[in-house]
Amino acid sequence: MSSRRRRIRTTAGASKYAVPVIDLHCHSTASDGTDSPRELVHEAVRAGLTTMAITDHDTTGGWDEAAEAVRELDTEFTLVLGTEFSCVYHSPDDSQRISLHLLGYLFDPAAAGLKAERARLRENRLGRGEAIVNNLIEAGYPVRWQQVQAIAGGGAVGRPHIGQALVDSGVVRSVHDAFAELLSSDSPYYVPKADSEVLTMIELIRAAGGVAVIAHPWARRREQILDEQALRRLVDAGLAGIEVDHMDHTPEDRRRLRALAEELRVFTTGSSDYHGTHKTVRLGAETTDRQCLQRILSQADGVEPVYSAQAR
Ligand code: AMP
Ligand code: FE
Ligand code: FE
Ligand code: ZN
Repeated sequence: MSSRRRRIRTTAGASKYAVPVIDLHCHSTASDGTDSPRELVHEAVRAGLTTMAITDHDTTGGWDEAAEAVRELDTEFTLVLGTEFSCVYHSPDDSQRISLHLLGYLFDPAAAGLKAERARLRENRLGRGEAIVNNLIEAGYPVRWQQVQAIAGGGAVGRPHIGQALVDSGVVRSVHDAFAELLSSDSPYYVPKADSEVLTMIELIRAAGGVAVIAHPWARRREQILDEQALRRLVDAGLAGIEVDHMDHTPEDRRRLRALAEELRVFTTGSSDYHGTHKTVRLGAETTDRQCLQRILSQADGVEPVYSAQAR
């Protein structure tokens, strides 16, 4: 790690690191990660990242704490502020309804339309989480909604919190097992979220000065995934990039998505989608190259990234 972080002589504007390590999709306790925003920043530094995006589900709730932690660092580090939005795509003939995740980077958190939509999504997560818990209770599982809320700790509630409650109650051994046995979308206890229309969400992110990147578009193997025509419609609406390198994409998915991105003239990113102990993936397991980061930084004007003193 020491050699990786060794400073090199560069021209103005170029990276100050021999090898920048950029991870643009990470979760904290502001949603369903297990590290607090501050811990997440410190973990990122320990993992050798030079740039990280904090992208909690449907919230900017972790931004301030993460930013404060970055300002206090004594190493060079850049924090990209972001959110992973829960969205849905409807095909033009309305025959398909596909859930997807959209990353928004560096948008103005005060922009009214987007702020209202974030609040709506979080509110929906509460009612939907309670509905899933009630289904489990009815089937005899020893979980309580209060217990789930305590685990979520005020962050955006998600199925991993219900999974943790099932682990704590001794029903399953891991959050992963909870998903496999009880929480998957084809489980009888599942309740869907009231996700945002993706085309509207792309417009809202752009209106707030942000940059929209689709997260792990082909990750949901068993469900419908966005085809080329759908991705083309998102790009026409203003989608700027595709998250290609993600643990849930096979080498073949990545090859095809990269070719598609080139054809659609959008950039590609790679990210860990780190969730702390709720998933096994490590920070920096997948990374984004510097040119793609630069395209995000040059297109965004909603909010500045947060730089540590050494990175300024
Ligand atoms: P929700 O947002 O409530 O629909 O829950 C989906 C979240 O659960 C996603 O953010 C994933 O990170 C997480 N998730 C999905 N599958 C699994 C799994 N098998 N193990 C742990 N977390 C998962
Ligand atoms: Fe998640
Ligand atoms: Fe996601
Ligand atoms: Zn994620």
